[in-house]
Amino acid sequence: MDVQYNVKRVLERIAEAAHRANRAPEDITVVAVTKTVEVSRIMEAINAGIRHIGENRVQEFVKKHEFIPAEVKRHLIGTLQTNKVKYIIDKIDLIHSLDRLSLARELDKRAAAVGRVIPVLIQVNVSKEATKSGIFEEELESFIEQLEPFKHVRVKGLMTIAPLSSNPEAVRPYFARLKELFDRIKERGYPHIDMEYLSMGMTNDFEVAIEEGANIVRIGRAIFGERYV
Ligand SMILES: *Cc1c(COP(=O)(O)O)cnc(C)c1O
Repeated sequence: MDVQYNVKRVLERIAEAAHRANRAPEDITVVAVTKTVEVSRIMEAINAGIRHIGENRVQEFVKKHEFIPAEVKRHLIGTLQTNKVKYIIDKIDLIHSLDRLSLARELDKRAAAVGRVIPVLIQVNVSKEATKSGIFEEELESFIEQLEPFKHVRVKGLMTIAPLSSNPEAVRPYFARLKELFDRIKERGYPHIDMEYLSMGMTNDFEVAIEEGANIVRIGRAIFGERYV
């Protein structure tokens, strides 16, 4: 599996999807999802131009962190246990998976302790699948209002994971729905949050996500090949 070639192909496909939607390809950030991928192959992706990496497990992230060049941005994309916040609070550039108030409270406390404001995305469970975490859309605005006291947590946008499907068209409505919520919340103009990033789209469906407005896509297998662990 040629990582360098895969990165090039992914960037081309992103550019094509952006053009179809009359958007600028450079407005779309690729997060290379590096779960189960060893550092040497992550470095191949970085050498091919990747500047953002995403891990979904704290332990794996912490193990690899010191070997990744400092200028590469680190994203945490998986469900975050409250008791693990302390291991990542000074290392992560963007958390995609804020899904409950107790996590916001812990992030706020730990971010305050290290003197930073931690940027986060709210994970929304648009499809309401029982196996997925995330806030339901009906609860989103009330959740946002409850985040107001947490001055060391800054919401920067929304994230979702679409249902698993071999047909990307089947998930288009979920992406369109998250974009609607994103625009609506942006219009509300809450002073304590920014609606800047819309993180949606993975290997199976990133082109559809871009057509529907994603500006962060999280791509693992299309860059590193299938995961067998
Ligand atoms: C694994 C993972 C991805 C990447 O999935 P691929 O199908 O390999 O592109 C994206 N987002 C999250 C939250 C993930 O856990």
